[in-house]
Amino acid sequence: MTDFDYDLFVIGGGSGGVRAARVAANLGARVGLAEGAQLGGTCVNVGCIPKKLFSYGAHFSHDFVDAKAYGWQLDSAPTLDWKVLKTNKDKEILRLNGIYQNLLTNAGVTTYQGFASFVDANTVKVDEQHIRAKQILIATGGKPFIPEFPGSKYAISSNEAFAFASLPKSICIVGAGYIAVEFAGIMAGLGVKTTLIHRGERLLKDFDDDLGELLAKELQHYADLRLNTQILSITKSHSGKLSCQFDNAETLETDCVLYATGRIPNIKDLGLDTLGVAVSAKGAIVVDEEFSTNVPNIYAVGDVIDRMALTPVALAEGQILVNRLFGNTSKPMNYENIPTAVFSHPNIGTVGLGEQAARSKYANIKIFKSHFRALKHTLTTSQEKTFMKLIVDADTDKVIGAHMLGTDAGEIIQGIAIAIKAGATKADFDNTIGIHPTSAEEFVTMRTPQ
Ligand code: FAD
Repeated sequence: MTDFDYDLFVIGGGSGGVRAARVAANLGARVGLAEGAQLGGTCVNVGCIPKKLFSYGAHFSHDFVDAKAYGWQLDSAPTLDWKVLKTNKDKEILRLNGIYQNLLTNAGVTTYQGFASFVDANTVKVDEQHIRAKQILIATGGKPFIPEFPGSKYAISSNEAFAFASLPKSICIVGAGYIAVEFAGIMAGLGVKTTLIHRGERLLKDFDDDLGELLAKELQHYADLRLNTQILSITKSHSGKLSCQFDNAETLETDCVLYATGRIPNIKDLGLDTLGVAVSAKGAIVVDEEFSTNVPNIYAVGDVIDRMALTPVALAEGQILVNRLFGNTSKPMNYENIPTAVFSHPNIGTVGLGEQAARSKYANIKIFKSHFRALKHTLTTSQEKTFMKLIVDADTDKVIGAHMLGTDAGEIIQGIAIAIKAGATKADFDNTIGIHPTSAEEFVTMRTPQ
């Protein structure tokens, strides 16, 4: 049977899936897409967007304190109406869900509301409907992973934290990755007594060491940070309070325990085993550099392939794949120098290699660092410090890493990333006139290597 309903069928309407479906349809392909939950996927519904909105909300608490030093009289202490923030966040997400639907409809993509599974290599099933497609793209993303231990059923993931009906008074966050440190800043900023627990001794292990160490110092200004500590069990009292027992024999009473200890690829119930699609030990779909699985007409992009779990990466992968399938272009995906931000308090922005990775890859590197109090805080009582770091290949003078901890670090590093992607040298940075007075000008005025 060679008659197909679609040239491409996409499973998953998140960042990667929607981009791939839309671009393929615009290139003339007949495209169908199934989404089991809400269009927009993790990023729109329980990731980047609501997280950043909450982060904005949380930062006001610091602004109110800083404002006093600039003469603002706040007659009574500002209070948070959580319901207003949550309702406005929900409304914005609903608006974005609608925009995603319109993007697909206007491009001519047929959408199916429901979870899809494979019947055979060219057929998927959504509810009881069988749909045949020449090519099938798996873009089902990832999901939070909470390890099993006594009382783990009381722990929530970031998904539930976006939907609190009312804010807990206290929270214990477990983890050291970007989601854990971001939620620590958000919860503390919104007035929740926050404890951050990590079994190791450093936060953000995938980032330059200085960033994790300095963020830990900043975090201690507003949260109870407990490193080298692990939860053994959680019990629940009649009053609903949770009690965490730690491996150092201490306990902590808290209203909520949030596990942000990792995410796993979302492949459950897809029926991949019957097709023989290869998956890694972690459950990620194995693809080659062109996003092809070992089954000829089946492809995968985004978090489900577990390369770099970032929205712009999923978008780029989806676009590159369908450009090749339907647009006859063969531009490969380049994972080098992908900038990223952590919306912790303060923010982190980073691009290129960290110092440890640079030392193992290059024979001679130079490190430039600056650690200072931003002009804004010369009037305030805030202890917050800004940190910047450049890593340079001493043999070519190329800047191979730029890292920042401080206000708007993500906004600043996005610009620096263009320079690094274009192969800028340290001399190019030095020849650039700074914008005064900004924190960002420090990136072009660091002269003395460490
Ligand atoms: P997803 O966006 O997860 O989409 C997958 C979709 O597939 C989902 O909608 C799901 O319902 C659907 N689906 C799954 N199985 C089926 C099925 N069988 N049938 C039909 N539909 C199915 N990235 C950034 O770049 N910046 C950030 O600031 C950022 N913050 C984040 C914060 C949090 C708390 C989290 C959890 C993630 C964050 N990310 C961020 C990561 C980002 O959200 C993901 O990398 C991105 O969403 C991956 O896109 P995707 O298309 O691979 O999958």
